[in-house]
Amino acid sequence: MKHDKELREVVANPTAYARRLKESTGKKIVGYVCSYTPEEIIMAAGAHPIRLLGSKENIHLADSHLQSYCCSLIRGILEEGLSRRIDYLDGMVFPHTCDSIQRLSDIWRMNIGFGFHLDVILPVKIDTASARDYLYDVLAKFRTDLGRALGVDITDEALKKAIGITNTIRRLLKEIYQLRSGNPRLMTGEELFTVVRAAMIMDREHMTRILSDIVSELKMKAPGTAILKEKRLVLAGGICNHPDIYPMIEEAGGAIVWDDFCTGSRYFSELIAETGDPVSAIAGKFLKRVVCPAKHIDLDGRANHLIRMVKETGAQGVIFLLLKFCDPHAFDFPYMKKNLEEAGIPVMLLEIDDPLPAEGQLKTRFEAFLEML
Ligand code: SF4
Ligand code: SF4
Repeated sequence: MKHDKELREVVANPTAYARRLKESTGKKIVGYVCSYTPEEIIMAAGAHPIRLLGSKENIHLADSHLQSYCCSLIRGILEEGLSRRIDYLDGMVFPHTCDSIQRLSDIWRMNIGFGFHLDVILPVKIDTASARDYLYDVLAKFRTDLGRALGVDITDEALKKAIGITNTIRRLLKEIYQLRSGNPRLMTGEELFTVVRAAMIMDREHMTRILSDIVSELKMKAPGTAILKEKRLVLAGGICNHPDIYPMIEEAGGAIVWDDFCTGSRYFSELIAETGDPVSAIAGKFLKRVVCPAKHIDLDGRANHLIRMVKETGAQGVIFLLLKFCDPHAFDFPYMKKNLEEAGIPVMLLEIDDPLPAEGQLKTRFEAFLEML
């Protein structure tokens, strides 16, 4: 894959990339923890947004602030902050979604001595008449607070430009998913993970050029649909920061044709309107996007979305990867499983954590599920 080396280096060490970017461009770097963060407002402020996803180091500093039954994503991000490995950050943004992210925000505010700290207190129930007005006000307040923290005026023009860039990234990521869904051999699951993850770390304008190159390369390699002997699968859950999982599934005989992760398709599924008031347009995206279990619309929306995804991609089964101690996704799983099975779609559940269980053990479980399909 074109740009493979560059993307892998960035994903293997986002901290080194962010420090280099800051040094070479002088840009302020703003960290965030969840895909409900309005990246476009950060970009329009002339800063660079970077999504943090846990830590690769041992967790020990965070243990004195968090219970051990907190997910590894939250514990890892706090560890990175307390150890000051990410003290290149000029600020952190916490959208209020799950309880763990909200508590991380409080702990961060009281214990991390670098950068500004901003909360974006989003509505929980997002299908009410007042949710749109409230969300608009929250985003407008974030625009003001961020502008003040960075000492800049965030203009409508800058917001529209940022929306154009992130929409291009979303369109191109979707195109890559579609091409790969037709022929999963075009790119391994782990390569796909690397591309999406890099899009949350790298300079976004540079990323649009990289993604265009990848789309052209995939189109040249093998357009159209391939007949596979592998079983077609959709992966579902909250986040997946475990690239090692993909080759295990592929070696067991599976082809990952789509996913429902906020570190995957939920990141690019919704575009932002490019006309009208830009803050309303960003609010519109958050209201329209496929809901994550930390927000509420109805009981069956997520399951229906997943069933549609399975049908559209011709998948034969769904593997749920649930991060240990992630309550919102764990609470959603029973009814998701029930709805999928009623629609005739087999489901497997795998709890994941840092580090992953032994490879042999995981492969046996994947093989058993794939054999059953
Ligand atoms: S699963 Fe939901 S709450 Fe958790 S990080 Fe993703 S978007 Fe945020
Ligand atoms: S939604 Fe789950 S995985 Fe994401 S931060 Fe909250 S508890 Fe952790």
